[in-house]
Amino acid sequence: MIYDCVIIGAGASGLYCAARLLSSKALNAAVIDSGSRPGRKLLMTGGGRCNLTNRSIDISGYYTDDKDRLSHILSSHGSEESIRFFTDEIGLSLSFENDLVYPSTYRASTVLDSLLLYLKEHDCRFIFDTPVSDVSYEDGLYILNSDIKAKTVVLATGGASYPETGSNGSFTELLRSFQGINITPLSPSLVPLRTAEKDIFALSGKRVKCSLELYSDKKMQEFVAKSKGEMLFTDYGISGICVLDISGYAIRAVRAGQKPAIKAVLCDEDKVHYNLSRFTDRTVADALSGILMSELVSVLLDRAGIDKNRTVSGLNDREKEKVIESVKEMKLTVTGSRSFDQAQVTTGGVDLSSLNEDLSVPGNNGLFICGESLNCDGICGGYNLQFAWSSADLVSKGVIRCLS
Ligand SMILES: Cc1cc2nc3c(=O)[nH]c(=O)nc-3n(C[C@H](O)[C@H](O)[C@H](O)COP(=O)(O)OP(=O)(O)OC[C@H]3O[C@@H](n4cnc5c(N)ncnc54)[C@H](O)[C@@H]3O)c2cc1C
Repeated sequence: MIYDCVIIGAGASGLYCAARLLSSKALNAAVIDSGSRPGRKLLMTGGGRCNLTNRSIDISGYYTDDKDRLSHILSSHGSEESIRFFTDEIGLSLSFENDLVYPSTYRASTVLDSLLLYLKEHDCRFIFDTPVSDVSYEDGLYILNSDIKAKTVVLATGGASYPETGSNGSFTELLRSFQGINITPLSPSLVPLRTAEKDIFALSGKRVKCSLELYSDKKMQEFVAKSKGEMLFTDYGISGICVLDISGYAIRAVRAGQKPAIKAVLCDEDKVHYNLSRFTDRTVADALSGILMSELVSVLLDRAGIDKNRTVSGLNDREKEKVIESVKEMKLTVTGSRSFDQAQVTTGGVDLSSLNEDLSVPGNNGLFICGESLNCDGICGGYNLQFAWSSADLVSKGVIRCLS
């Protein structure tokens, strides 16, 4: 049998690509996956709730080698087009939380089941437990693993994060025989960070609302990125969505040999001033206990070199200043990150700039790439799934053009 199109990867981008393809034309298409089940990572998204897109995506929230190309991909099929396809064509009901979009059931399995039902209705074939380890081109056909033949092939193999879901970075090997593609080395992103400061390890499991500023150096002269939200202390450093959002920048800085530093603004400075002038009979720790959790206050006062049991009235002006400086913001030095096992996405991959505009491989009529195998990753909040949908849609149009 010769397939019109074989899609390698039954993840978010591969399934969406198949759905877009079959929605516009009846084709003999198959989706191949190394695992025994489709959409393993999709089921984990949004903590199992699947934040499937964001209605006000800002291109500055993505890292990529080519922002113009990215802009073209996102504008040709953006969040509104994806929302329309999911609701009108697939029959998935959605809920909107400000800009964030979820299935109304708040279950990622509903998104997966809806996509699979649609693909079944459109006669899509599935081939599981089949890792593709070789793609070659002979006599106008692509040959996969020396026995599966197709006129067009879509590589939707994901990145290298959460490898137990099947995305293990194997696409770099698959592409090795195709010339002219540049692959930016893969590294983890949206990933918890390791810090040099060990005093916070004792706070493991505790959370604090804060705003973060990332600088490229310890002296905090060159601002890189900022974020806001809940930071989670761990026994190796920090995590939480606001940390994940700046992690890509931090990892790049570490890789460039810099020592990136984070300024975590923990509370309103005015409140610290007020409590220190109003509750002078209290110990310093008690005066601050209504502003920040006591364990965190202890760490910050240790850093300031002030005994937490001293009374506020006993502090001189210099010591009070030290307390205020230390408590209002916490300084952290990033030394690295957790591994791919804990990274929500992969940064790096096939450079957008090394592909044709329709995401086909130059000089290889009919070979396309979509999803996280491409060098594009975004912040939390539906950015990554939207890139999966958008790039998959663009590829589906390229496949149709190629076959006609
Ligand atoms: C815990 C977690 C939570 C997340 N939450 C969100 C969220 O809420 N919103 C959001 O926008 N993004 C989220 N993401 C990111 C999002 O899930 C990914 O960006 C998206 O799944 C990428 O889709 P993909 O199709 O490119 O890759 P994947 O979904 O990883 O699919 C790749 C598929 O290819 C298969 N494959 C790989 N190599 C081969 C091979 N050689 N042969 C055959 N098959 C192969 C794999 O088995 C896999 O099924 C989250 C990620 C994680 C890990």
